[in-house]
Amino acid sequence: MKVLVVGNGGREHALAWKLLQSPQIQQVVCVPGNGGTATLEHCQNLPLAVDDFEGMSRYALENGISLVVVGPEVPLAMGITDYLQSQGLMVFGPVRAGAQIEASKAWAKALMQEAGIPTAEAAVFTEAAAAKSYVKAQGIPIVVKADGLAAGKGVIVAGTLEQAENAIDAIFQGQFGSAGNFVVIEECLIGEEVSVLALTDGLTIRPLLPAQDHKRIGEGDTGENTGGMGAYAPAPIATPELMSRVQTEVLERAIACLRSRGIDYRGVLYAGLMIAPDGDLKVLEFNCRFGDPETQVILPLLDTPLEELILACVQQRLGEMPPITWKQGAAATVVAASGGYPGEYEKGKVITGIKEAEAAEVTVFHAGTKLNQQQQVVTDGGRVLNVTAIGKDFQEAIAQAYTGIKSLKFEGMYYRKDIGHRVLK
Ligand code: AMP
Repeated sequence: MKVLVVGNGGREHALAWKLLQSPQIQQVVCVPGNGGTATLEHCQNLPLAVDDFEGMSRYALENGISLVVVGPEVPLAMGITDYLQSQGLMVFGPVRAGAQIEASKAWAKALMQEAGIPTAEAAVFTEAAAAKSYVKAQGIPIVVKADGLAAGKGVIVAGTLEQAENAIDAIFQGQFGSAGNFVVIEECLIGEEVSVLALTDGLTIRPLLPAQDHKRIGEGDTGENTGGMGAYAPAPIATPELMSRVQTEVLERAIACLRSRGIDYRGVLYAGLMIAPDGDLKVLEFNCRFGDPETQVILPLLDTPLEELILACVQQRLGEMPPITWKQGAAATVVAASGGYPGEYEKGKVITGIKEAEAAEVTVFHAGTKLNQQQQVVTDGGRVLNVTAIGKDFQEAIAQAYTGIKSLKFEGMYYRKDIGHRVLK
């Protein structure tokens, strides 16, 4: 079987790598892929934009590709699944109507309220004055969110009234484009965040191992928000009791509510959760796809062949699958980023030491990399590499990832030295 993977991040490299471990998969084509997928055996890149649905469809039909696995949210929100399905292809990822659960925070909030899913109190506004008076009435801290997709940048946790008002102005003045047609203002929750990603065929829901990400650029979880600087799984905060509540109070209610709206949601449903100090659980957001970098620590621990699970979701027979099996132990990933990220940074820096790192028993998933004309791997984005290791416990996995990352070099390389600090305590 040949598979097309859409996207160019560490998540897509991990998906391609995992799919290729199965003897059923002959070849993976990544659109557009990165330096890692370009050098992975039985994998090749296809230089098309992720919104070139027609180009992908033509290539897939001409080259015997039957399954498309979509990584990022943007093509899902644009309806890649609807289009490719109409061309006769199997697609893993929800249809456009389902992707609204991530693409519109107001839509997702209304769904959560209707379904009785625990979440922060919120109100939706279409103009600044009303939003500002609501903020004044509620008081700070408060959370201001642009409604639509904003590459993870549309959420401002405001500690002062001025910050909240500036955020409202910035969103309505178009800083996030059409993502800012609505503003969602939300009660500020405190606690520890955890990501629960689940596979679903629209009827059955199978959660994957819970993971924790490190959003901030600086050690001790300080500084600006990023796409994620490291992750580990399985997150101990998500006890079996908590996972069972997530299943019944969050995932099942969401899928049932989507069905009641006529949406047959097949793919990943990702719940970003806040666990309060008293154990109370609330949904911060839903995503309609695999997380990045969570996927880089979940897939190395997965024992069940990934393509079997994906096909069962697409063909709506997940309920017939035996339980998902996992490797014992833990996984950790540390992100090597370009100096300056998440602000401005330079690209095109030659990367050395990947083979040496891999010899230290880590898997290096590429994110912002590409091959230059001399076929050297060079930096091509903010988050550059994900150095991933598995071990019998967190101590071993994290230590191994840090041993691996020491072999890597590129000008300006930065990584956090405290990934996993919560589980190492
Ligand atoms: P979201 O895209 O809605 O998950 O927001 C991105 C990040 O903003 C989350 O991972 C949290 O760190 C933070 N955040 C979002 N909503 C809230 C909230 N209601 N209270 C506190 N922090 C929040």
